[in-house]
Amino acid sequence: MRTHRLLPSLLLLGSLALATACSSGSPGTASGTATARPGASAAPSPTRTVDPARIKGLQIVSDNSESTSCAWATSYPDVPGATAMTAEMKKDVQWRLAAFRASCEDGSASDDGGELNISHQFLVASGDVLGVRLTTLGGSGAGSGLGRRTYWYDGGAGRSRTALDLVDSGSREAFLAALRSGLEGREGTDPDTLDQAFGDRSALTGELDDMAFTATGGLRVTFDPGAVGAGAAGSYVVTLPKATVTPWLSAFGKRVQEQSVSPSGSLDLGATATPTPAVPTHTASGDDDTDCEQVKCVALTFDDGPSATYTATLLTHLAQYDARATFFTVGQNVVAHPALVRAEVRAGNEVGNHSYSHPDLTKLTAEEVAYQLNRTSAAIKAATGQAPTLFRPPYGAVNSTVRQATRLSAVLWTLDTEDWKYPDAARVAQSVISKVKRNDVVLLHDIHPTSVAAVPQILRTLSAQGYHFVTVSHLRATM
Ligand code: ZN
Repeated sequence: MRTHRLLPSLLLLGSLALATACSSGSPGTASGTATARPGASAAPSPTRTVDPARIKGLQIVSDNSESTSCAWATSYPDVPGATAMTAEMKKDVQWRLAAFRASCEDGSASDDGGELNISHQFLVASGDVLGVRLTTLGGSGAGSGLGRRTYWYDGGAGRSRTALDLVDSGSREAFLAALRSGLEGREGTDPDTLDQAFGDRSALTGELDDMAFTATGGLRVTFDPGAVGAGAAGSYVVTLPKATVTPWLSAFGKRVQEQSVSPSGSLDLGATATPTPAVPTHTASGDDDTDCEQVKCVALTFDDGPSATYTATLLTHLAQYDARATFFTVGQNVVAHPALVRAEVRAGNEVGNHSYSHPDLTKLTAEEVAYQLNRTSAAIKAATGQAPTLFRPPYGAVNSTVRQATRLSAVLWTLDTEDWKYPDAARVAQSVISKVKRNDVVLLHDIHPTSVAAVPQILRTLSAQGYHFVTVSHLRATM
């Protein structure tokens, strides 16, 4: 994933959508498209939508901080069978995160806006073909800026592939010539920059690392900002129409094209074992009649999930103590695991909105904030039948633009466990037990096993002290 340092004056969302529409409508043309801020990547893609809930055994691997002083959120999918591809994504994500966290510690992160965001998108998941795009925004030091990379897995061959592997090696020169002619004359490019970009054949795998087929079989190639033109002009997109590109495709590329145009529906990568995590069936017995004026209440809140690995266990812990909680879910995890969100509601818990890809909302425009929140509310409503009424801004970062962009009510917290920073169940439990006060809103995260493991001790100890565990809306309504 070749990336370039962020420039301040990149294009905004409106022109982004327009440019994308132009490029899909007139094949062979290139468009400047860019977005500068994490979470602002609302570009409608002319590729088909993949429903990740249909991918058996899918786990989304997320790791987020919850502090504006070192704000990061990373995610990538772990699909059974695609082990080598998962390992590549993990390596790239961990490398970027380690560099960013080091820059937080030495204080240089704030030079770049102090935020790293890596989100994922499924491009194809059917037949024996899997394609995922990771979008990196922000970061610090080497490799910072905007970067997109597509990762491909060939289930037939049992190996991961690069984007350039979609093209047959014997047709590379013709393919490159077509890409170059699609870029020539575009604002921000000139023959020298194109010579430079296309001159070094050994760097092409890194340069041409974002390719995907459109729903009509064209190949859409995206160049990161600065790769083939002035960084301020943003990304460049060249879409080669189906008739042009098909003769140049590799056998794998042809299979990906076929599954992009007419998905066969089910994904089979030949995994020997596909975990099918049980979804808890706990059902709440009616409305909660706890009177928080009469008894001691506390609202436990769990952010960043649902997690295929840990949320089910958490629901079982809560049910054992008749405890209700509030889950501030991240949209990209909701669409992957809607059954877990349904299970949260069925057990009497409240589900709130924690944005789609966990950006600092205060760095986005009102339109981008609305996009992050609306897309997530729609996913929650699709999963549970109920739209949320509450949202928790990632990192607790909220301002008037954010508040005005949504009708959801913002919920922060009164007790911070810092569980994301200290993965130690005993420490997390103690941080709640030693500090809790009546009517506290406690911040926890159900993407960490140590946080979930801390919950039984929290519930046991506080129950014995007379605490009742209620949702945030219940606490607000009865106070
Ligand atoms: Zn969060």
